[in-house]
Amino acid sequence: MTDFEGLKALVTGGASGIGRATADLLAERGAQVAVLDLDPSAVEKPLLGYRADVTDDASVRQAVASAVADLGGLDILVNNAGIGAQGTVEDNDDEEWHRVWNVNVIGMVRAARAALPQLRESSHAAIVNTCSIAATAGLPQRALYSATKGAVYSLTLAMAADHLREGIRVNCVNPGTADTPWVGRLLDSATDPAAERAALAARQPSGRLVSAAEVAGAIAYLASPLSGATTGTSLAVDGGMQGL
Ligand code: NAD
Repeated sequence: MTDFEGLKALVTGGASGIGRATADLLAERGAQVAVLDLDPSAVEKPLLGYRADVTDDASVRQAVASAVADLGGLDILVNNAGIGAQGTVEDNDDEEWHRVWNVNVIGMVRAARAALPQLRESSHAAIVNTCSIAATAGLPQRALYSATKGAVYSLTLAMAADHLREGIRVNCVNPGTADTPWVGRLLDSATDPAAERAALAARQPSGRLVSAAEVAGAIAYLASPLSGATTGTSLAVDGGMQGL
């Protein structure tokens, strides 16, 4: 199936984990794909890599402009770059709140602002934001991270309303714990990473972590013309966590 033949996509945070799996899947399905990342050095052809920091508006604008010029337009923005934070409200100071908020929320706003003029030119325009079950699940020890993802969820709904009549759909995916380098780094910091991984898997309703490819599949659906009547929704990719 070549759902994305002729479409051009930009994936932020596309050098690793969910973003990389998404960039690879869209390219396999026929899209021309650009990746924006802090470190695009591992991004290989046919993907195009652009170095940018989503906390730096000028670098985002420059990378998006270069990607649009090289791709010859833009139909899909996958707003995926994000970082984690652990702890209760007493554990993270103002500086940490500003730092994580700047990446996870305003970073998505910056990429959207830079991409919207090009997306308006597309007849299949879609934005997919990588949110999280943390937006609505009330996870312990994740106050700051959850607040940023709650904001991403609200941003998705507001943007869907704002850009509906411009023909730009805006949706988000809500992954559960996904097996990415990020989660790998967290596990590696445990005393016994293998035991911690097994315990983490056992805590999931399905008994295993979600794969990056499974999240990419949901993002691809929401980015593709197959979901042409869907906007302002969140799609859970959490191995059954919601509702169990
Ligand atoms: P990852 O660390 O494997 O990949 C994140 C990528 O984003 C990296 O390539 C990194 O370089 C890039 N990045 C980080 N800060 C950036 C910045 N300031 N500017 C540009 N690029 C930047 O992480 P992942 O697990 O694939 O997470 C991707 C997204 O998925 C995040 O938004 C995260 O919140 C979300 N998410 C992850 C999980 C999970 O369990 N892994 C669950 C729910 C949601």
